[in-house]
Amino acid sequence: MIETQPDISLAQFAGKIRNGEVVAFPTETVYGLGADVWNADAVARIFELKGRPPDNPLIVHVSSIEMVETVVSDISDDARRLMERFWPGPLAIIFPKRPEVLDIVTAGLPTVAVRMPDHPIPLRLISEAGPIAAPSANTSGRPSPTRAEHVRQDFGDDVPVIDGGSCQYGLESTVLDLSIMPYTILRPGRITQSELEQVLERPVRLAVLDPAGLAQLKNAPRSPGMKYTHYAPNARVRWMVEEECCPPGPPHRDKPANHTLYLLHRGQNSGDSPVHPHNAGDLGPGDQVIDYKGDYTEMARDLYDRFRMADLKGFREIAIEPFSGHDDGTTALLNRIEKAIGQGG
Ligand code: AMP
Ligand code: MG
Repeated sequence: MIETQPDISLAQFAGKIRNGEVVAFPTETVYGLGADVWNADAVARIFELKGRPPDNPLIVHVSSIEMVETVVSDISDDARRLMERFWPGPLAIIFPKRPEVLDIVTAGLPTVAVRMPDHPIPLRLISEAGPIAAPSANTSGRPSPTRAEHVRQDFGDDVPVIDGGSCQYGLESTVLDLSIMPYTILRPGRITQSELEQVLERPVRLAVLDPAGLAQLKNAPRSPGMKYTHYAPNARVRWMVEEECCPPGPPHRDKPANHTLYLLHRGQNSGDSPVHPHNAGDLGPGDQVIDYKGDYTEMARDLYDRFRMADLKGFREIAIEPFSGHDDGTTALLNRIEKAIGQGG
């Protein structure tokens, strides 16, 4: 199903971008669907292909700090510290935009989100083609793609894909708004609240898991994408209920319901569990019960692939073991699961 297009070199992909085409490429977070940031028709094509609402702005991808200056009107000292510490990496920073940046890219906002991906393929593309506006390379509402095959599932032959294998992190970047006080994480990701606070030496608010912050954002959305349901497979995603969570003692059922995919993560589900967990490193595509055994890095990397696989395998439900709270390692995961369930922002 995947055409890796080995006949097309990276330089040719860069040429396509310069020609106003839309191209999908891997990053360390998820695959991106990119176009020349200065080409309004090419950027419009991204929205058209994805079915993305026009009020949901794109992230501009750069390959150097000098390139940031071509789209941003002011770089604060705090922004510089963050770029030096976390770039290239999964942190998108919101800056005041230069007036030349097209409204279609920023959905008419006076700000622009910018990040430098930590992946050789987009870094090369961008250094040859200039800044690339790119959202995730999925159709709107589908889980973000973490493999080239996922891009093909959503776009078929409409979009040429550079196949870089599986994405290393597997969830979208952290989005940090430096244009409001307190500085606010609009979308949690691999770069965590405490890592940001350590570098900035001041408190940073995590909007999505703070009810007051979320209400404020919903009333006057800073990150318009937050109001849309994202990341959802066709199967219904829900939390496991207590009987399914296999407390010590006799199992409540001999077998899990066969239309349900179970995702466990705390790793205590073994022995007389009614479900038969696998190690995260030993997953098969048709497995019905997956146990990440506390490996949240693996769970994040695998989540969207697992969501898509559940649909392909005909599972009607995905039941996920509840989290007892959240910490730096689980905030982004919990946020994406809540969004898939429909509880999140
Ligand atoms: P995607 O790349 O598809 O994961 O979407 C980009 C995310 O960044 C969306 O949630 C956008 O709402 C958010 N975003 C992009 N630009 C801005 C901006 N200028 N201000 C606030 N949020 C933004
Ligand atoms: Mg997206």
